[in-house]
Amino acid sequence: MSADLHQMGVTALARALRERKVSAVEAARHHLERIGQHKDIGAFIAVDEDLTLAQARAADAQLAAGSAAALAGVPIAHKDIFVTAGWPTTAGSRMLAGYRSPFDATVVRRLAEAGAVTLGKLSCDEFAMGSANENVAVPAVGFDHAVPVRNPWDASRIPGGSSGGSAAAVAARLAPAATGTDTGGSIRQPASFCGVTGIKPTYGRASRYGMVAFASSLDQAGPMARSAEDCALLLSSMCGPDPDRDSTSLDAPAEDFSRRLTDSLDGLRIGVPKEFLGDGVAPGVRAAVEAALAEYEKLGARRVEITLPRTELSIPVYYVLAAAEASSNLSRFDGVKFGHRAKDYRDLAEMYAKSREEGFGDEVKRRIMIGTYVLSHGYYDAYYLQAQKVRRMIADDFQQAFRQCDVIAGPAAPTVAWKLGEHGGDPVADYLADIFTLPGSLAGLPGMSLPAGFDGGMPVGLQLIGNYCDEARLLNAAHRFQQATDWHLRAPEGY
Ligand code: GLN
Repeated sequence: MSADLHQMGVTALARALRERKVSAVEAARHHLERIGQHKDIGAFIAVDEDLTLAQARAADAQLAAGSAAALAGVPIAHKDIFVTAGWPTTAGSRMLAGYRSPFDATVVRRLAEAGAVTLGKLSCDEFAMGSANENVAVPAVGFDHAVPVRNPWDASRIPGGSSGGSAAAVAARLAPAATGTDTGGSIRQPASFCGVTGIKPTYGRASRYGMVAFASSLDQAGPMARSAEDCALLLSSMCGPDPDRDSTSLDAPAEDFSRRLTDSLDGLRIGVPKEFLGDGVAPGVRAAVEAALAEYEKLGARRVEITLPRTELSIPVYYVLAAAEASSNLSRFDGVKFGHRAKDYRDLAEMYAKSREEGFGDEVKRRIMIGTYVLSHGYYDAYYLQAQKVRRMIADDFQQAFRQCDVIAGPAAPTVAWKLGEHGGDPVADYLADIFTLPGSLAGLPGMSLPAGFDGGMPVGLQLIGNYCDEARLLNAAHRFQQATDWHLRAPEGY
């Protein structure tokens, strides 16, 4: 069995572990070996064999004692935006190089309590700001300098971002699953670009405690794995109220997100926003999405044409609000409490300035400057307040749409993964590519991406968006699609 352990998904691996056909130590070693063989992708920022194997041995002891924990012994890797006791946490930034958290993020803790074994920490865009995983400032495992993550389907292309390390690791079979975070698309877009399945739950479902904050009214954690079935299993462990530690935690009980997986899709109304299939969507992406919609009709679903008229506005609205929140959240990095501190300075003000100048990368500084500007006296009403108003309208548009349909479908991104450096350092080119994930983020809705075909050899993701707390239905729709198709089973060559 050991030879193909990396081909098993979370569900199959958890079963094999429970049946004692494989041990947690074997599963961990197997994946650590693969991580070592495929360092060139740059997906991992930290591995620590001793820590991983100690946790795997503990899982084996629990399994021997008959543990029924859902993920007992399953190795998973965490986006390096979640703080992890015993491991470094960098958020991809020089600012946090060398930082070690004294505690685990709630999501990390919950997964560990379900028996999962931590394989390592995954590369991401600095403070989760980016769409290509090119904004990384800390070295990847096997390198002595920072490197962008590469897409396992084509090493000359980006894996998407900001959870690019997570998507690449899952696609390359270095981990059966990974955690990700999604503020404006960072689970769905890299899942789409790397041909894996990822879900961002309803805002507030997963605790933000211990997730290095970017834009607090948008940040959400979620799983990235090879199937909807695996995502449902992981999500059930990750979510649940955390009222003492996250004031925006939803007051909704933990759920079994797998409970509806096999429900029939007969009569399911799938809304297709006309704005999601217009000009600007690559023809190959449109064709894959159309084919997926036709597959859904075969499965009994009904296609309904809908409109989300403010789709385009989601870009300026998001990049005003996310920057505003980031400028406030990142003010904690002042060189005093934690993080990088400049060596030479004359006084306190210079210490702050130099520490931030040296610790933050260009994209992070750009967001802080935009955020500070839109929040400043005289501009607050024109930008920040206006963006908040349009955000509400975008959320209302979705509620209008959900009167006509149960689930919304479209592409996760207008194109497949682009070439490294193709956007030539033009941040706006990256921002524009977020157009289909931002609306759902601004509304706080659950959304996912699942593999739905290829364009020029690169994976295309189908995005499904559901109404608040309707994750189980989204996962049901995705699972039925995956039972009827094999896009999610394709692996990049050489992996
Ligand atoms: N690409 C978006 C940004 O750069 C989204 C990032 C995210 O979801 N973390 O802000």
